Amino acid sequence: ASVVCCFKLLLLLALGGVTMHVPDADVLAPLESLQLDGRLTFHDVSAVARDFGNRCSLLPAAVLHPGSVSDVATAVRHVFQLGERSPLTVAARGHAHSLMGQSQAAGGIVVKMESLGGGMRVVSSRGVSPYVDAPGGELWINVLHETLKHGLAPKSWTDYLHLTVGGTLSNAGVSGQAFRQGPQVSNVNQLEIVTGRGDVVTCSPEENSDLFYGALGGLGQFGIITRARIALEPAPRMVRWIRVLYSDFTSFTEDQEMMISAEKTFDYIEGFVIINRTGILNNWRTSFKPQDPVQASQFQSDGRVLYCLEMTKNFNHDEADSMEQEVGVLLSRLRYIQSTLFHTDVTYLEFLDRVHSSELKLRAQGLWEVPHPWLNLLIPRSTIHKFAKEVFGKILKDSNNGPILLYPVNKSKWDNRTSVVIPDEEIFYLVGFLSSAPSLSGHGSVEHAVNLNNQIVDFCEKAGVGMKQYLAPYTTQQQWKAHFGARWETFERRKHMYDPLAILAPGQRIFPKAS
Ligand code: FAD
Repeated sequence: ASVVCCFKLLLLLALGGVTMHVPDADVLAPLESLQLDGRLTFHDVSAVARDFGNRCSLLPAAVLHPGSVSDVATAVRHVFQLGERSPLTVAARGHAHSLMGQSQAAGGIVVKMESLGGGMRVVSSRGVSPYVDAPGGELWINVLHETLKHGLAPKSWTDYLHLTVGGTLSNAGVSGQAFRQGPQVSNVNQLEIVTGRGDVVTCSPEENSDLFYGALGGLGQFGIITRARIALEPAPRMVRWIRVLYSDFTSFTEDQEMMISAEKTFDYIEGFVIINRTGILNNWRTSFKPQDPVQASQFQSDGRVLYCLEMTKNFNHDEADSMEQEVGVLLSRLRYIQSTLFHTDVTYLEFLDRVHSSELKLRAQGLWEVPHPWLNLLIPRSTIHKFAKEVFGKILKDSNNGPILLYPVNKSKWDNRTSVVIPDEEIFYLVGFLSSAPSLSGHGSVEHAVNLNNQIVDFCEKAGVGMKQYLAPYTTQQQWKAHFGARWETFERRKHMYDPLAILAPGQRIFPKAS
C-alpha cells in the first residue's frame, strides 16, 4: 500500500510539446522485477511518444516489448493489483497511426504490440470457412502476404495496410469493400483478449460474446487484442482498377449508391472530391498509373470541383474476357464524363498496398512525418447534399491540403452489437479530410486545417446533419457520451466489467483513471 500511496506524479513538464509525467522510482522498481519472456525498458521511451497525427506527444514511464501474451497479462495484472490509487495506465501501441495520442500513455506503460509475434496460422480445410489466426500486433500487409501463400485473403480492408490487426479492429476498419463485406469488425470470428484485470479471455459470437462485440470498435477500452481470427476468401490474382470523373455531385452520389445496392456490381467502390489538383500532398493517393495517355489530374475542369469514382473488378487470368464484358455493362449504367475513363490492371497485392507507394514518395520528400490534422466523418445519406453544398461550395471552396474521400456504405453490413458508432440510416457516407500540415503558418499549417475542420464540424452540429465522427479525437467524457448517445450505457457497463480501474487506452480520454 505504501508503494501505492507513494505513487504520485512528481512532475508535469511541457518540453517542446512533449508532456512528461515522471513517476516515483518505487513505482518503477517493482515493474523491473516482473518475470517476462520479453523486456521492459525505462530509457529511450520517447520513440513511442508520437503518432501519425504528430500533434500530441506523451512520454510514458516504460515500454513493454512483450515476448508472449502472458507478458501482456502480467503487466496489466500488476497495474490492476496496484489498485485504484495508482495512476499507472497501459496503452497498446499498434503501429501508432492514430492521430491524437490515442496509442500513448502519459507516465504509464506502452505495450509495443508489434513485438508480440507468435506467428500466423492459416486454416483452410474442406467443410470449414477459411480463416487466419493473427497476432494483434501484426500488420495487415503481413497478413496479406501470409494468406496469399494459400491463395486466400481477408475480405475487408483499410486503404492502407501498414496498420495493425488490433489497431483497426479497435476502430472499425473501413474501405471500398465495406459495402459488400462490411467493415473489418464484421469479418472476425474470434478474439483473444487481455482484459483490464489481466485475464486472458477467448471470445467469439458464441463464447464471452459481450466482450467480443465490446472489443470490436471498442477503442481499446475493454482489453488488449492479442490474437484475432479473421475470415478469408479466395484471393483473385488481378484487379481492373477504374477511375471516372463527374462534375455533378448528384450524379456522382446517385451512381455510387446505385452501385453499392446492385447485386451485380464492382468489388470495391470509393470516391474522392477533387478541389485543388496541384501538389503531391493532394495527389498522394495517385499511385494509379493508367495506360491512357491523359492523366486524371490533367483533365481541364475550369476550376470546378470534380468528383472521382474509383472502382475495381477482381479477376483471374482466364476470366479476363468475362471481366471485360461485366465491367462494360456496369460502366454503361454510370453517368460520368465520358472522356474521363481511366483504367489499369494490377495484381491484387499491388492494388491493396497502393497507398504504401505514395508513402514512400512522401517520405523521400520529408512529407510523411508532418502533422496530420485529419477529420473523418460519417454522414447520413439524407443530409449528404446539404453537407456537400456547404463544405465543398463554401468552407473548402479553394483550398485543401490532402485527399478528400467520400463514399457510401450500407448499415446492414455493420453488426450493431459491436461498439462502433454509426449514423442511424441504411446508407451513410464516409467522408475523410486527410490533411497534411507541412508548414508552420499559412495554408499549409495545422492552424489553418484545424480551423477548416472546426468550421465543418460546427456546420454539421448547427445544421443537424446527424454526423458521427470516425477515429474521433474527443477529450471529455461529455463529448464521448454525446458521441455514443443511447449506446453509452452499454459502453460504460462494459468498461466497469472488463477494465474497472480504467487502466487501458488512456489516450482515448474516455474514462479518466481515478487516483
Ligand atoms: P494505433 O494507432 O497504434 O492504436 C489505435 C488505438 O487502438 C489506440 O487507442 C490503441 O491503444 C488501441 N490499440 C492498438 N492496438 C490494440 C490492440 N491490439 N488491442 C486493443 N487496443 C489496441 N482506417 C480505416 O478504417 N480505413 C482506412 O482506409 C484507413 N486508412 C488509413 C491510412 C493511413 C495512412 C493512416 C495513418 C490511417 C488510416 N486509417 C484507416 C486509420 C487507422 O485505422 C487507425 O489510425 C488505426 O488506429 C491504426 O492502427 P494502428 O495499428 O496504428 O493503431
